[in-house]
Amino acid sequence: SLSDRLTATFKNLRGKGRLTEADVDGTVREIRRALLDADVAVPVVREFTAAVKERALGADVSQALNPGQQVVKIVNEELVTILGGETRRITMAKYGPTVIMLAGLQGAGKTTLAGKLAKHFKSQGHTPLLVACDLQRPNAVKQLQINGERAGVPVYAPHPGVSSEFEEATGDPVVVARNGVSEARQKQFDIVIVDTAGRLGVDAELMKQARDIREAINPQEVFFVIDAMIGQDAVNTALAFQEGVDFTGVVLSKLDGDARGGAALSVASVTGKPVMFASTGENLDDFEVFHPDRMASRILDMGDILTLIEQAERSWDKGEAERMAQKFVDQEDFTLDDFLAQMQQIKKMGSLKKMLGMMPGAAISRQQLEQFDDRQMDRIEAMIRSMTPHERVAPKIINGSRRARIAKGSGVSVSELNQMLVRFGEAQKMMKKLAQGGGMPGMPGGRR
Ligand code: GDP
Ligand code: MG
Repeated sequence: SLSDRLTATFKNLRGKGRLTEADVDGTVREIRRALLDADVAVPVVREFTAAVKERALGADVSQALNPGQQVVKIVNEELVTILGGETRRITMAKYGPTVIMLAGLQGAGKTTLAGKLAKHFKSQGHTPLLVACDLQRPNAVKQLQINGERAGVPVYAPHPGVSSEFEEATGDPVVVARNGVSEARQKQFDIVIVDTAGRLGVDAELMKQARDIREAINPQEVFFVIDAMIGQDAVNTALAFQEGVDFTGVVLSKLDGDARGGAALSVASVTGKPVMFASTGENLDDFEVFHPDRMASRILDMGDILTLIEQAERSWDKGEAERMAQKFVDQEDFTLDDFLAQMQQIKKMGSLKKMLGMMPGAAISRQQLEQFDDRQMDRIEAMIRSMTPHERVAPKIINGSRRARIAKGSGVSVSELNQMLVRFGEAQKMMKKLAQGGGMPGMPGGRR
């Protein structure tokens, strides 16, 4: 697997400063191969790996990860972003029913998805209505009716007995769609799922019909349904539907098969639309909200290496936290070096709030933390780095002339340096108190 290959490619090189071209190239080559194996379209692979390379080159080498792991981490983050980042929720109509239209090639899985969505929404307390607008194939309406029955959701269809007043609509899917939506409005269904026809290949007539339906019903969401097994054709098909109908989200079907899901990346990458759901079988329950992070590791086939990366990062942070906790137990003084280490921990975490959650005993108050931004931290780092080792452990010796020297060396004003030292003094006091109180409650690795 990719994990094995990458693990073999890299030794535990740490603290090299910056990622080098050689570090990045080796990993990017493996990533490219993995993406092609997952059937990601060739132009998408090319663009993606170029972007990753650019971002990875010159990135700071993390303390916790070796260069290969670090490139993989960047790749994973980029994949997740392209696939839609955070899972997006469906846009609901402010008034009247929320209309969801399905589009895609024949056999993509639209009619099956219609049933799945209906069941899903019903289980959430909604009252969906299915509308059958595939009048191309004789069996299509019947198939939707079967799915509707299984989901326990009514189907609006141009059939006598179902809604005879619209019998004249038979044959024109645009009229059926429009009437289906107004039926939903009248009878107070809150979600309408409109199934449409597909063709085996992209063709102009199909596109026009789908676009006409879209214009007639003005849906909140148009889902482009695509078979995960479609492989390299994903890009052309997606672009044709984007141009011909346009859509708001992608649903990947048949993910229960062997496909590694490269189509998801191809489509999301060329259309910029998020993947919202995944279809994973023929039963109505084989359906899930799409998780970009899970998909990213499926595409890369490297769940184990991602786990490793998480562990490495966690254990580094834990090691640092434990060292810190031990200091309090030993009643050593909290120094500017420790202060700096805490800053770096926080910066590494990315999010201050997250850090607060993880280190309830941190020496810096919540309020102080929220005032920091990364740039401020860089300045604090610069100030501490401009101090001598002795100054860092015994800040009391930092007199006027030392202050002038440190301020000059770090490019800040003396008053900013003074503020930082005051802040540090407060942190030091708090640390002392915590140490006397028998450690830091809830701190990872701290003694209770
Ligand atoms: P449509 O032409 O787009 O409406 O596609 P259908 O919903 O009729 O699906 C075409 C075929 O694919 C049917 O035999 C479905 O049972 C099957 N199918 C649909 N979704 C899935 C899925 O997620 N997994 C599997 N294994 N089969 C699926
Ligand atoms: Mg169908």
